[in-house]
Amino acid sequence: MKFALINGSKIEATKGAKGVCPSCGSELIAKCGEFKINHWAHKGVHNCDPWWENETEWHRLWKNNFPVAWQETPLLDQLTGEKHIADVKTEHGVVIEFQHSPINAQERMAREKFYMNMIWIVDGARLKKDYPRFCKGRNDLRATQKKGLFIIDFPDECFPSSWLASSVPVIFDFRGVASIDDPGDIRHGLYCLFPRHSSGHFFLAAIPRTSLIVNLLNGNFPIKLASTDSVKQIEVMKPSGSFRRRESPYYLERGRWKRRRHL
Ligand SMILES: [Zn+2]
Repeated sequence: MKFALINGSKIEATKGAKGVCPSCGSELIAKCGEFKINHWAHKGVHNCDPWWENETEWHRLWKNNFPVAWQETPLLDQLTGEKHIADVKTEHGVVIEFQHSPINAQERMAREKFYMNMIWIVDGARLKKDYPRFCKGRNDLRATQKKGLFIIDFPDECFPSSWLASSVPVIFDFRGVASIDDPGDIRHGLYCLFPRHSSGHFFLAAIPRTSLIVNLLNGNFPIKLASTDSVKQIEVMKPSGSFRRRESPYYLERGRWKRRRHL
């Protein structure tokens, strides 16, 4: 963890320091070594929050965009007594979870259910194949009347399948901690996949990095995406280029649906 409580204040780890966990109240020991980023650890092996993941430089870079008071916010479900530490909770009530390591569908759903009003920011630079897949898949995006908003017909060709069923916006950061000199590189931007819309479409927003952060700071993100009615307003402009259809992964053989082998 980045912060422990010392005399009630959120303090970062320094060699030899001791503090208290803001969530469970147990003692935390400062870990300041060569290999891992400076952090606080519970005395035992485990963090009191089973959802906690060891932090990387990428986590810290993201957290530092937000006020200290919003970072590592302990949250309690009054009914069940369940406790978790949100990476960031804005004063507008939005929880931001930064996800570097893989996450299984069960835990993803549990976290979405617990935090409710949340977004994910996913490290898209961890796996080598994620960015090339996105580059290829984005050729098929269809523009809408809203600048920066696209319809994505084949989200599985752009993003890891584990995120497609998410019930909250998932923002992919393909730059990670790399410094990229070319100012025109698309990895400077962020790509937000919205939960499947009631119309059955998936929408993708391309958002400049600074504008996402500013909008989270001032409470203007997540935007409410069109309800069923207003999809008509977003109405798809003429598809750019030819409209691609994809072969179904299933075929009918003697009255039974079978999955094609090559897909
Ligand atoms: Zn704790």
